[in-house]
Amino acid sequence: MTQTPQPFSVLGLPVHLLEDYSGWLLSRLHEQLGGHVVTLNAEMSIQAERNASLASAIHQADLVIPDGSGVVLYLLFQGKRVQRCPGIELAESLLWQAGQLGKSWPVFFYGGAPGVAEIAAEVWRRRVSGLTLAGSQHGYLSPAEEEQLLQTLKDLQPRLIFVGLGVPRQELWIAQHRHICPQAAWIGVGGSFDIWAGIKSRAPAWLRNNHLEWLYRLYQEPWRWRRMLALPHFVWRALVTSLA
Ligand code: UDP
Repeated sequence: MTQTPQPFSVLGLPVHLLEDYSGWLLSRLHEQLGGHVVTLNAEMSIQAERNASLASAIHQADLVIPDGSGVVLYLLFQGKRVQRCPGIELAESLLWQAGQLGKSWPVFFYGGAPGVAEIAAEVWRRRVSGLTLAGSQHGYLSPAEEEQLLQTLKDLQPRLIFVGLGVPRQELWIAQHRHICPQAAWIGVGGSFDIWAGIKSRAPAWLRNNHLEWLYRLYQEPWRWRRMLALPHFVWRALVTSLA
């Protein structure tokens, strides 16, 4: 049985350090074991300090990956050199691999503005020939529509469920509902549908490689500046913890 690795602590939150995250998840899925995957970054860590439900969802997740540069720097200050694993790249790797497994690995996209998850699903359908997209749904549902979505997921039992509702909504939603598809990997993917649908773009590789993806996000979405104050706060906390 694929064991959950021992986590490292980042400001009291668990982070799992593995060579191959998609390989680990796929072995779990082959064993009919699902799980909740959290893509941890500095913003989420700081939010979790003030939001006990978010902290609890992260603690209960089966896999927490070091998504953000801040988390990687924090671990470096603790003497641990690790590779960053952006959530969108893990999701893409899983989609390619699900394509090879065809019908037995249906995928569901939930989140984003009306129409976006649908376009993203179409993009992936064209990109990966064997991929089975069980369905897609936007992330602005009424309570009745959400009930309907839960019933659909129960009936379809997708194996990969990507949830792009933003932090902390997606983590809380997954923690609350993951029991309905116990054999699925549920992954919070933030704004990945927007990127796959071509509405937003990722930072160029040279910015990503130099830990400056946040700067590109600020340029693309300047209204995020208040949320992004979490970054210097996080780096400060990381320095204080490493010197303690
Ligand atoms: N979103 C949604 N429902 C909501 C609020 C947000 O589907 O009630 C979507 C939004 O359209 C966007 C994504 O959630 O596609 C949030 O993306 P962002 O990049 O802000 O995610 P985060 O930085 O929080 O991971």
